[in-house]
Amino acid sequence: MKRMSYVEEFKIGVPVPRSVWMEMWNKCLQKAQEIKTVTLNGKPYRRLRWHYDWTEEKDLPEICHDCHAKKGQLHVPGCDVERCPRCGGQLISCSCKKTGAWTTFIVPQDLGFSIQE
Ligand SMILES: [Zn+2]
Ligand SMILES: [Zn+2]
Repeated sequence: MKRMSYVEEFKIGVPVPRSVWMEMWNKCLQKAQEIKTVTLNGKPYRRLRWHYDWTEEKDLPEICHDCHAKKGQLHVPGCDVERCPRCGGQLISCSCKKTGAWTTFIVPQDLGFSIQE
């Protein structure tokens, strides 16, 4: 049986105050820093950091708009900004075959959390 992650321990679908959600998200972001590689077509590659590893684009914001990674941090797996270190495309949509911890990472969004305004 799959081990229950820290995120799964929260109630699914219950609206939470923004501050609580942000705290959960920050934990998620910290957890994401431990996943240093992504396995692509059977080979591990070092993940690209926001935005240290971006060479062709200038004037990027300090914070990733999608996953809130700060400059120099790794994205939360599933972020639509993260690039593929193998083909250079968008990691969530490129055709490289992904396996390992990157693919099984669970984020609060996927569990149906909503922010209580
Ligand atoms: Zn991101
Ligand atoms: Zn790729």
